[in-house]
Amino acid sequence: MSTVQVDTPGGSYPIHIAAGRLDSLAQSIPADATAIALVTNPTVYGHYGERATKALAQTGKRVLRIELPDGEAHKDWPTLNLVFDALLQNRLDRKAVIVALGGGVVGDMGGFAAACYMRGIRFVQVPTTLLAQVDSSVGGKTGINHPLGKNMIGAFYQPISVEIDTDVLATLPAREIAAGLAEVIKYGLIIDAEFFAWCEQHVEALRALDPQAITYAIQRSCELKAYVVSQDERESGLRAILNFGHTFGHAIEAGLGYGQWLHGEAVGCGMVQAAELSALTLGLPPASVARVRALTAAIGCPIQPPDLGTPRWIELMQVDKKTEGGQLRFVLLPEIGQARFEAAPLEALRRVLDQAAVA
Ligand code: NAD
Repeated sequence: MSTVQVDTPGGSYPIHIAAGRLDSLAQSIPADATAIALVTNPTVYGHYGERATKALAQTGKRVLRIELPDGEAHKDWPTLNLVFDALLQNRLDRKAVIVALGGGVVGDMGGFAAACYMRGIRFVQVPTTLLAQVDSSVGGKTGINHPLGKNMIGAFYQPISVEIDTDVLATLPAREIAAGLAEVIKYGLIIDAEFFAWCEQHVEALRALDPQAITYAIQRSCELKAYVVSQDERESGLRAILNFGHTFGHAIEAGLGYGQWLHGEAVGCGMVQAAELSALTLGLPPASVARVRALTAAIGCPIQPPDLGTPRWIELMQVDKKTEGGQLRFVLLPEIGQARFEAAPLEALRRVLDQAAVA
């Protein structure tokens, strides 16, 4: 088993990564816990619910199952309330622990429920998608969507541990693997050029979920994310670099309608666009842009952005949280492995966006 330590002002905790980790979940529950609420969805519960429940029951504590409807469309207030209803109806107290078993949607909602219930109870993240294992379960961002904006209601709230079982990826659809790999290569692009090169060399092994390769990729991604959030838990500076590709990606998701492209697919394509913008503004060499494009395609993400029309692209990007005073700011790369967060000239942005209409 490998362990990555996360240290933030809001909490320090381990990330445990191992094949079969699901069977050891009892180890993540503190001795003084009065009960366990297993927050999940029917899809994940169908695959792994019984194993997780059996493992948690080894603590001798009561395990309450709370199943939420599957999907981003349910990452909302009425669904969150189902968690509070169940916790209150079953009289769980302040020493109860929430275990969030699922992808990023379950993790974000389980974490936010833990942040709010009785002003905060402990929770464990058990991420079951690759995206959740390398990204959303680490760093303490929790929350739900509002009809007027994605992830607009939430809290920074750290789990007491993250338990990653690499075996559960076997049941994940190929598109979800590609979407998770986009976030993996993102870490290389923004902070670790060697890791990016390693991903280039191991892309086939990663897509095939080769145990050694995927375990290393998850571990390195968690280390890099842990490093960034330990420097800047609340995104007042460095943490913003984790949004590389996301300003374009969010525009794709919103422009096409949520659910058309997976979040990670949109981010993958957005990284290619952000690399093109980096070439125009910071002089990222054309050969590096070609490497970003080639690896994004090789992991199975689309690299041709949808033709939303340049004015619509700009409009969509302006509602992104990364605008300040109306000026568009981007995470840009002077070279692979380094990132800066800065405003880009509109002319350069238009040139990148115009290409979306050309293909
Ligand atoms: P998801 O949670 O919707 O999971 C994708 C699908 O896979 C779902 O249908 C789910 O039920 C299913 N699934 C999960 N594990 C499975 C498994 N092992 N086998 C088979 N099917 C499985 O999507 P996601 O990509 O994991 O997460 C996306 C969410 O994460 C978004 O809401 C996004 O806003 C959020 N997010 C949060 C952060 C953060 O820092 N908190 C970061 C990135 C993304």
